[in-house]
Amino acid sequence: QYFERRRRRIALSQSQASELESRPIELRSDEILNGIVGIVGNTPLVRIQSLSDALGVEILAKAEAGLYLNPGGSVKDRVAVRMIDDAERQGLLHPHTGSRIFEGTSGSTGISLAMVARARGYAATIITPDDMAAEKLHALRSLGADVEQVRPASIVDKKQFVNIARQRALEFSSAYSPSVLSSSEDSLAVLTDSAARGFFADQFENKSNYDAHFDGTGPELWRQTNGNVKAFVSGAGTGGTIAGVGRFLKSMKEDIMICLADPQGSGLYNKVKHGVMFDQREKEGTKRRHQVDTVVEGIGINRLTQNIELALPLIDDAFRVTDPEVVAMARYLVKHDGLFVGSSSACNLVACVRLVKKMGWRGGERIVTVLCDSGARHYSKVSNDDYLRAEEIPIDLSLIEEMLSVD
Ligand code: PMP
Repeated sequence: QYFERRRRRIALSQSQASELESRPIELRSDEILNGIVGIVGNTPLVRIQSLSDALGVEILAKAEAGLYLNPGGSVKDRVAVRMIDDAERQGLLHPHTGSRIFEGTSGSTGISLAMVARARGYAATIITPDDMAAEKLHALRSLGADVEQVRPASIVDKKQFVNIARQRALEFSSAYSPSVLSSSEDSLAVLTDSAARGFFADQFENKSNYDAHFDGTGPELWRQTNGNVKAFVSGAGTGGTIAGVGRFLKSMKEDIMICLADPQGSGLYNKVKHGVMFDQREKEGTKRRHQVDTVVEGIGINRLTQNIELALPLIDDAFRVTDPEVVAMARYLVKHDGLFVGSSSACNLVACVRLVKKMGWRGGERIVTVLCDSGARHYSKVSNDDYLRAEEIPIDLSLIEEMLSVD
């Protein structure tokens, strides 16, 4: 209830929003927060000093992870809380009754769901691809989730992790309500109709994901910048962040640019630029390691989901970011700012620099982005020299220096 009150405070209708400029951002340092869920959201906005100084443009980023911030360690805490809140409101989940949350995820969302599940009296089953960073698996297990690892597969394959999660939720619910499995197999509504004990969170299709950002991250950003923003830059995994924040910011100020930061191997860049989504891996003949063939975890996708569909009409421009650029930016930020961020955050910041250069901005304009999680979730990949060597990804900070110096 406390969280709900707090959430409502930052969820703004358009009419309320006009009052925003006079209102100071609420700080929470002197608040007593109600349990771990009370810590989620309301994150600080930080100026990235090195990039801002070099560009003459303010690069601001929502710090979504780190000590005392979203306690599950990423921006996905917001989504996990919202999905569970909404499911409780709809009567799909009842605390302390043996209900179990199911999700197919390559990392952050599962960790956030496992944490919120524990705090709220649920069990969690998380299905993951078996090639995701090992630290995420440790985090899931440490939070008491039951983890099932499966081989990476295409979404049309029944053994793909999202499909298995849906199937496990159905099986679990059917143990209590045998009619469940006989009705339409892939519908969330099936679970709704049953005395559902198993809840398939389904972040890719679940609009609560978008709502968490439309009601939370977006209004926070608006308030923290007093609406003085030229552009919002974000990658898309499920699309929840860019769709929710993008929609909120555009509804406040139509000419704010919404820009996609797309890692190599993802099909979204092509969809935005050329109207067609094709699997980059098939075109390039690269090997199939992960959902998207890149060192970046959490963003990039090769299919259209409900949350991506919500995002597409909002996106004004897109930037494709390569693995070497992501690695260089991650290392550059450690070297110059002491910022140890994850790969999707680094990808976002590369796209920020590209956008500033493309637009020719240098007069103190402001653009905002998201630091989605910490580098600690990526020890085995972006910050691991041996891994990068084995994958033949160079560590070359001059990529960023050149990018910053181009006129
Ligand atoms: N960064 C990381 C590390 C993530 O796990 C995710 C979620 N998949 C994102 C960014 C992207 O967020 P979204 O799903 O809202 O597009």
